[in-house]
Amino acid sequence: MNLLIKNVILPDGDKLKTVDIAVTDGIIKKIGKVEDFAADETIEGGNRLAIPAFVNAHTHMYMSTLRNAADDLPFMEWLFNGVMPKEDRLDNEQAYWGSLLSCAEMIKRGCATFCDMHLFPGNSARAAVQSGMRAVVSRGLVGSEGGQKRLDDQLKEIEEWKHEKNIKFMLAPHAIYTCDKEYLLKISSEAKRLGLGLNIHLSESKAEFSDCMRDNGCTPTEYVASLGLLENKTLAAHCVQLTENDISLLAKYNVSVASNPKSNLKLGNGIAPIYQLDQAGVNVCIGTDSAASNNSLNMFSELNYMTLLHKGTNYDSTAIPAKKALDFATVNGARALGFDNLGRLEEGWAADIALLDTDVPQMIPLRNYYAAVCYCCDGSETDTLIIDGRVVMKHKELLTIDTEELYYNINKIVNFLDN
Ligand SMILES: [Zn+2]
Repeated sequence: MNLLIKNVILPDGDKLKTVDIAVTDGIIKKIGKVEDFAADETIEGGNRLAIPAFVNAHTHMYMSTLRNAADDLPFMEWLFNGVMPKEDRLDNEQAYWGSLLSCAEMIKRGCATFCDMHLFPGNSARAAVQSGMRAVVSRGLVGSEGGQKRLDDQLKEIEEWKHEKNIKFMLAPHAIYTCDKEYLLKISSEAKRLGLGLNIHLSESKAEFSDCMRDNGCTPTEYVASLGLLENKTLAAHCVQLTENDISLLAKYNVSVASNPKSNLKLGNGIAPIYQLDQAGVNVCIGTDSAASNNSLNMFSELNYMTLLHKGTNYDSTAIPAKKALDFATVNGARALGFDNLGRLEEGWAADIALLDTDVPQMIPLRNYYAAVCYCCDGSETDTLIIDGRVVMKHKELLTIDTEELYYNINKIVNFLDN
């Protein structure tokens, strides 16, 4: 399958250039002036900006049905009184529609890949396959009680979906405060046996940090390191509360950190030391967390917060420049999730490409590629999205998701949850 994208804008050093992009079987074959290419499909880029599609490194896809259900509450009240009672009423099919709603929102905002921690096996994988997205899926494991059943659910999910080319798996001990030590050790050894990475919430809140100091005499990061968890390929979400030693440990074990700036702010958990993590050589990537805590799944917005927050907190306008932040949101996320040659627009790399309108006031004049993406875009500029060489949104129309059917089902679920 040959796809030709004509006349799109890419950076050329400090300047901009207009190029064509030729894609064969999901791989970028040529960037430049393309002639003599037998295209099965041609997209007229119309001088739109081409960017590598985003990798959202931390989501809970099914939770989009809980958007705006609990806001401005203390963290534990939000979780235990706001989110969980509604979540407990959701069934498998409802989780699928919630996940598909998340796919629709992310595609509309230029995102091609997500890493999900879910409660309903199979549904985020099903939504990803339906929508044409790439995904890493993991069952949120809590225990010990019932822990083996959840682990078995995860193993079944892997068997069911492992044949899908764009679906990968991790094991996800939910957090150190929801898994006891034996369960953490068990998950870690299962991950080693299966050759899978770990996806864990780590050091998200001050309460998690101080409880761990009280109960274990060490920080959450030191605790998981002492149990050997970090010897697995690990993606740690949040990492807000870190000591200097924690940062050294995360670097030493090559842990990838999925920072969720807006979720951390909205839940009053603070700001992760991203500048320091990056300086220490940690692979930093970006996630949205769920629509219950964000309340959107817009990677442009996260990118903007990521660049601005760390300039402000470090009193340094050169901290986390736009180009670096875009790497966090693309190639670093792909690396954390184990997708090779994904997250850059270069020949030989995967054709996951978002095309952004430039004929809107906030993009004029278009001087600097990276500044435009990080400081000007709000995401509404996303016109077309290509994932693995397949056009899943063309001129703002979703081609893989029937939105009428989707919204009908979401309304039904919301009526059920709220009554
Ligand atoms: Zn999370």
